[in-house]
Amino acid sequence: MDGCIFCKIASGEIPSNTIYEDDDFRVILDLGPATKGHALVLPKAHYADLFEIPEETLAGAAAVGKKVAATMKKTLGCDGLNLVQNNGEAAGQTVMHFHLHVIPRYKNDGQHILWKPTSPTPEELVAIRDEILKG
Ligand code: 5GP
Ligand code: ZN
Repeated sequence: MDGCIFCKIASGEIPSNTIYEDDDFRVILDLGPATKGHALVLPKAHYADLFEIPEETLAGAAAVGKKVAATMKKTLGCDGLNLVQNNGEAAGQTVMHFHLHVIPRYKNDGQHILWKPTSPTPEELVAIRDEILKG
């Protein structure tokens, strides 16, 4: 897509620190990493987000994320790893080309990627379930 930075990176038009590439995906190091090794799985085709990406491509991105995660565990010796995928500004998406974050985690790395839990009542949870399930 014209003007999309991740399309240009995924196609190789803009250089990147690539750690994996195949016909459909490129995996690059994030320019503003949360931790050492933070990478982004980019489909080479343009899809804005989870709502646009075909299931097959989503499954492919997950498989590539798994492969890269296994490599990082071996080579970087990370203690854990987060897969993160943001959709929409409200969820923190800043680049509107689907990407899967692969974030190696290290003991005491100082990052806060998890959420702060809230405390709905059992009745509120039932109401939320019903709202999601209603046609
Ligand atoms: P989002 O917030 O949309 O889920 O994540 C976008 C990510 O892309 C951010 O972590 C940001 O650091 C990274 N990023 C933005 N522009 C570039 C770029 O030009 N090159 C690379 N390698 N990463 C980028
Ligand atoms: Zn794009």
